[in-house]
Amino acid sequence: MSTGQWLIAPEGTTWFFDAGAESLDFAAAPEPVHGRDLGEWLAARYERLDATEASERDLTDARGLRAAITRLSIAAADQESLGPDDVDTVNLFGATPDIPPTLAGGRRQAGAGRLRTGQVLSTLARDIIAILSVEPERIRRCDAEDCRRVFRDESRTVNRRWCSMQRCGNRAKVRAHRARAAQALAG
Ligand SMILES: [Zn+2]
Repeated sequence: MSTGQWLIAPEGTTWFFDAGAESLDFAAAPEPVHGRDLGEWLAARYERLDATEASERDLTDARGLRAAITRLSIAAADQESLGPDDVDTVNLFGATPDIPPTLAGGRRQAGAGRLRTGQVLSTLARDIIAILSVEPERIRRCDAEDCRRVFRDESRTVNRRWCSMQRCGNRAKVRAHRARAAQALAG
């Protein structure tokens, strides 16, 4: 599955943020206020899920899972210990049935029917569990002081600095350029 999503910045512009993992994209998305916010976000990524499937209970669950993923990923990026309550939360969701793998080309529909929101939440929980268990050092934060967004660094040398080159990377470049120009003038 490809990761990333378009977000709206405070100044109103849209920008693409790829958190490098489904679970981190989920945590980076705007907090779902209504079941339909949640349904639409998930259905855009999981094609066998109906956007209208999410119940109020699913919404409450999703908000709890999202908050736990957010806190755990920040703790991992800051090399702090993981909150036991948040660990319990992701483990609880991960222990329920997730999206089963299916192979195309069969005659039966086993495993190929509609998904339930709970299965998707379980898949997201298992995603963050796998990342935190295997390569927590890949969870990092944007270098920009006023951003600090969390992402999974997929680069071979683990040296991604910015949430987005077009956004924070570019702002840093402009700042560095201005500083050099000011120095040249002063010198
Ligand atoms: Zn950033």
